Amino acid sequence: MTTVTGVAAGGGLLVTEVFSAIQGEGAHVGCRQVFLRLTGCNIRCSYCDTPESLEARALPARLERTPGHRDFAVEPSPLTQERVVDAVTALYRALPHQAVSVTGGEPLMQWRRLAAVLEALHARGCRVALETNGMYVEGLRALIDWVDEVAMDVKLHSVDTQAVPLSVHRRFLEIARGRDVFVKMVIGTDTDAAELEAAVRMVAETAPAITVYLQPVTPFGAVLATPSPERVLDLQARALRWHRDVRVVPQTHRLIGQM
Ligand code: SF4
Repeated sequence: MTTVTGVAAGGGLLVTEVFSAIQGEGAHVGCRQVFLRLTGCNIRCSYCDTPESLEARALPARLERTPGHRDFAVEPSPLTQERVVDAVTALYRALPHQAVSVTGGEPLMQWRRLAAVLEALHARGCRVALETNGMYVEGLRALIDWVDEVAMDVKLHSVDTQAVPLSVHRRFLEIARGRDVFVKMVIGTDTDAAELEAAVRMVAETAPAITVYLQPVTPFGAVLATPSPERVLDLQARALRWHRDVRVVPQTHRLIGQM
């Protein structure tokens, strides 16, 4: 069973990269955001497209100097909280941005070290969006006051091969639902319809006002195929039996050559 514990307090943050780009998934697709990608994830999804961010180890951090120019400076990670806040806000203020997307890896793995960063970003007027696998219940509870948006994954074993209990996702969503939140479920060629329906039903019971996004998997690494159009239509129809707002949106940033 996956252990859900936070990284100890103190020390800096393991950071993979900071850059400005266009959000490609979910409810805020198309928005210009500063991405703060933290290093380390507690699970290993079969379709993960950020393999460089999975191991929680100190690798050089890439910090974009000019928003959207990919003119990265490289600094040793971990970075101090102050350095992270400065790197993010420098991009955020250099041109209009719509949010700071705190992503990974799984950003809540470092939730104790992240608290001061989110508090400072919030104080500096940044809109904070959290992209998370929806497992670190304690971490979200500690940070929620400084989070404006939550993009929460619900992991389906038949797609990602991970065993994340629905009860954990439910407790996470109970905390997140006071914010601007949506749920994303990746669907693949082997998605189990009954598992999908159970997950959508959990969302409908816990946060009936939010939108569920079904995201057909983008072939990457060991994942070679995306579900057929007929399969996507069938899965959405099944999900709509349980929840009134289920939308299908693929990863769009890859279609337009964005990071
Ligand atoms: S939770 Fe996200 S970062 Fe972690 S393995 Fe899955 S897709 Fe990759």
